[in-house]
Amino acid sequence: MAARQVIIIGAGLGGLVCGRILSRQGCDVTLLEQGTQAGGALQTFVRDGIRFDTGFHSVGGLEPGEPLDLIFRQLDLRDLPWFPMEPDECIGCNEPFLRLSTGWEEERKHVLKPYQHGIWRLKGGGKTLVDALAKDQRVLLRKKVTAIEDRSVFCADGSSYRGDIVISDIHPAVTMRLVRDHIRPSYLQRLDVLSNGPGAFTVYAKLKPGTIRHLRHSIFVDNDFMIHFGDEAINGYALSLDIVTFVAGTPAERKAFAEELIRKAARRLPELPEAIEKYWTSTPQTWERYTGTPGGSAYGIRKNSRADFLAPQTPLPWLYLTGQNLGLHGILGTSVSALNTCNSISLL
Ligand SMILES: Cc1cc2nc3c(=O)[nH]c(=O)nc-3n(C[C@H](O)[C@H](O)[C@H](O)COP(=O)(O)OP(=O)(O)OC[C@H]3O[C@@H](n4cnc5c(N)ncnc54)[C@H](O)[C@@H]3O)c2cc1C
Repeated sequence: MAARQVIIIGAGLGGLVCGRILSRQGCDVTLLEQGTQAGGALQTFVRDGIRFDTGFHSVGGLEPGEPLDLIFRQLDLRDLPWFPMEPDECIGCNEPFLRLSTGWEEERKHVLKPYQHGIWRLKGGGKTLVDALAKDQRVLLRKKVTAIEDRSVFCADGSSYRGDIVISDIHPAVTMRLVRDHIRPSYLQRLDVLSNGPGAFTVYAKLKPGTIRHLRHSIFVDNDFMIHFGDEAINGYALSLDIVTFVAGTPAERKAFAEELIRKAARRLPELPEAIEKYWTSTPQTWERYTGTPGGSAYGIRKNSRADFLAPQTPLPWLYLTGQNLGLHGILGTSVSALNTCNSISLL
């Protein structure tokens, strides 16, 4: 019997995990990614010789017997160079694990529970994870999908791909706007009422050598922002750090916003303003450009434990959804969501 053809739109973590599972089940999988690198929110970039992670600072659930440990063993990702972090430092946070007042407390409880048993990072950052997942998959880059119709996917460069199954790792509402087949209006209306969480504003700072001691933990301040150190250090001094906060839109005065964030971070690291050699910023607008998520929302569709989650199935029997918008966000949430998507397909 010929292998089932599977087309996956988007090579973020959700698409890549689905791709690995389904290829191992004998499917012929092609991933179409609009960007110039795979990984979506897990992309890294290099400035002045320093590698910065964008959407990956740490992950929980990797202790033996915890959910991500089990999943990553199955996906051959547990042998990557993971290393344990020290517990987060929380200053002025009213509860250690509900640190950011972003309005998604309920789902953060679920995602963050495993963090109470250990926090992990990966040498090489998100790129190590993405490369490990992408290395034996057919990932076609610069393939921006502009339409989906009758099991076929059409790209901006004029190419098209046909599958028995099409899986979308992009935002469900955006996915449905690409579909030309008839979709019952009630489904589209339901998607329309789901709101997205806020976006992220990040200052990526390159530090002057020998100025700030490297810490193996993150710092959360006032339920407002967090400081993460890069994983590289020389003689115990950090080469870089980033400061992340969540915002509803892109600040009009980007530089002023960044300077204010640095000033606030100096409450914990007084030497920071002087120690920064150079910094770069990203805004929700940047995220929207790179991942296509509406408004540059960091974690996509808001969820809470009282609302039911979006299913991987859509009204079209050959079209499925995956990624952080379905279940929970993060590396753990997105991996679980990919398992659910693949499970729904095998049940067909
Ligand atoms: C600032 C920030 C920090 C974070 N920190 C952590 C952390 O420390 N730990 C953790 O576990 N999680 C973290 N996360 C969350 C985590 O990064 C995400 O939950 C996860 O990577 C989402 O993966 P995804 O596959 O669902 O979506 P995405 O990564 O958004 O992937 C979607 C992919 O689809 C592509 N795409 C979009 N439109 C099209 C199109 N039309 N045609 C083709 N391709 C398209 C995009 O380019 C992208 O590659 C963080 C997120 C942010 C924003």
